[in-house]
Amino acid sequence: MLFHSTRGDSKCPVSEAINTGLADDGGLFVPEAWPKMGPNDFSKNQSFSQVAYQLIKPFFKDDRLGGELEAICDQAFNFSVPVKNLDSNLGVIELFHGPTSAFKDFGARFLAQCLSRLEKESTEKLNILVATSGDTGGAVAGAFDGIENIDVVVLYPKGLVSPRQEHQLCCWSDNIHSVRVAGRFDDCQALVKEAFVDEEFSNKYRLTSANSISVGRLLPQMSYYAYSSLQHWHKTGEKLNYVIPAGNVGNSLACIWAKKIGMPIGDVVLATNENKTIPDFLQSNQWEPRESKATLASAMDVGNPSNMERLRHLLPDHDQRNQAISAYSVTDKQIEEQIKEVYQQWNYMICPHTATAFHVYNELNAEQKNKPWIVVSTAHPAKFETIVEPLLGVKVPVPKALEDLLERPIKRVDISPQLDMLDQAMH
Ligand SMILES: *Cc1c(COP(=O)(O)O)cnc(C)c1O
Repeated sequence: MLFHSTRGDSKCPVSEAINTGLADDGGLFVPEAWPKMGPNDFSKNQSFSQVAYQLIKPFFKDDRLGGELEAICDQAFNFSVPVKNLDSNLGVIELFHGPTSAFKDFGARFLAQCLSRLEKESTEKLNILVATSGDTGGAVAGAFDGIENIDVVVLYPKGLVSPRQEHQLCCWSDNIHSVRVAGRFDDCQALVKEAFVDEEFSNKYRLTSANSISVGRLLPQMSYYAYSSLQHWHKTGEKLNYVIPAGNVGNSLACIWAKKIGMPIGDVVLATNENKTIPDFLQSNQWEPRESKATLASAMDVGNPSNMERLRHLLPDHDQRNQAISAYSVTDKQIEEQIKEVYQQWNYMICPHTATAFHVYNELNAEQKNKPWIVVSTAHPAKFETIVEPLLGVKVPVPKALEDLLERPIKRVDISPQLDMLDQAMH
């Protein structure tokens, strides 16, 4: 299948879209057609990676990676994806059982398996440059750890990521370069942009990106919506409804894509923090991106969510769009209350991002709550223990994967946000 830009008609195969990231015209890649599949095309006992393979396969038809897709899925998704039922009509899907304890592992690991195969025969090293405010950098670094022919350079702002996040950014093999920048996240991002625009620099290093607009990250994220909704359908014959924490909207868009293909998905509700560009847009039909604001759910601090361009391309009509999704903003105070409430009510610990979705679920009316819902949990609470532990007055148990990473030694380079310093750091 071919992919084209949200802003034009030029087309390319999926592996090229994965390799280049952004279309030439600055738009985002979207598939030229939607495969159709229903619950009866899947069987009851398929594993997660089998469901993922079957769902993603049509997008890789006639592509040079098509023959490898099954192995790509098997190697990327080597961890569990449990649904915990809290009540007869309420479950939580835990997307944090990957190596860095957040849902970004799904996309980053799939992308890494694709790129490692595409780069296998290349004689020149590829450099992936990522600016991170926390979770993305760790997931990308972990996914590419030890992969031949590819280096990852992670830029993060000094003093502005949590100690455990920082450890996850700096504990990898020699092909991962962790760079601590004296500046804010915006300075890291600006430096990455400068590197891409500088022709000499980008040719010298063969640069590519791995940010959340990559189709190599979006496509695999459909899998957990397919997997959980199919399981529910096989048991009950009902559609499943989702509340999803949203920042750049990659996670929620994947749910909408899975529904578009024909997975048994009902309502899709987005929860944002106080960065409410999306709820405002759905209400007013005016697209007004703004500066981001710092909140407790920091991985969702996005004022200009980039994947909205794909959503608006898929659903250009205001009424149609408002039928397909709704979105609500949640305050820091509500996040704190929700973390406490969920622990009191269900003896279940959640991270601040997951708390936004729980809050929105609780605000649903009685008629809506009669339907079966899944709250999407995007990170393990132990990654945000400095917020969660004081609220609950107990320690959050650290999962084995995170504990293993925290025991590794760390290495990093310090720079100020200047291209010549980045150049030195990459040698
Ligand atoms: C990235 C992230 C989000 C936001 O996901 P988007 O795809 O950007 O909407 C939510 N929660 C956590 C923990 C994240 O790391």
